[in-house]
Amino acid sequence: MRMLLVEDEKNVAAFIKKGLEEEFYAVDVAEDGGEGLLMATSNEYDLMILDIMLPGINGIELCKRLREKGLKAPILMLTAIDSVNSKVEGLESGADDYLTKPFAFSELLARIKALLRRTSDSVSELSLEDLRMDLLSRRVFREDKEVVLTPKEFSLLEYLLRNKGRVLSRTQIIENIWGYTFDPNSNVVDVHVKFLREKIDAGIDKKLIHTVRGAGYILKTGNGN
Ligand code: CA
Repeated sequence: MRMLLVEDEKNVAAFIKKGLEEEFYAVDVAEDGGEGLLMATSNEYDLMILDIMLPGINGIELCKRLREKGLKAPILMLTAIDSVNSKVEGLESGADDYLTKPFAFSELLARIKALLRRTSDSVSELSLEDLRMDLLSRRVFREDKEVVLTPKEFSLLEYLLRNKGRVLSRTQIIENIWGYTFDPNSNVVDVHVKFLREKIDAGIDKKLIHTVRGAGYILKTGNGN
């Protein structure tokens, strides 16, 4: 799951990003409305969190423009003003929900999960052969044995499972799991794929994670590239 957060207050943005990453979500941050508009229209997000008070294009205007462009991902608005007007304006602009600052992280998380449940295609399990991922309990099983993954390993495996049978480049993986600001020359993907292989494939005949030389990685059954 990849999210866009548009928030100009750096400490608030860092707080939300860190918390969501600990919950297995990948988060890109835009610091103003213009940057948010650019990022939202050039990447695919599962959910967007827009602060209303932003320099340049404000959150309400940004939300309107995104809906006009046909973006369907759920939008959660953050507002510092607990006024009926900003709530109504936010919802009329096409937002799905709003949250008044200051809020507890657990409240934000609950709203996000509710929005994702409401709008997702209600897939609760991803699988390939005897590899199973339960998206609700966030547990993974191979050969009926539970595999314990770190948040990044979980996100990586989820991305591979959602795209099973498709070659994913290192750049695609970095953008989806670590966010587009991450150094594309980093070996972070290879390192995490190695960890994931040790947990998912080691000691099992049927390997599921395959390297496609010069292209990236693919999750599929059968050997050979
Ligand atoms: Ca703000």
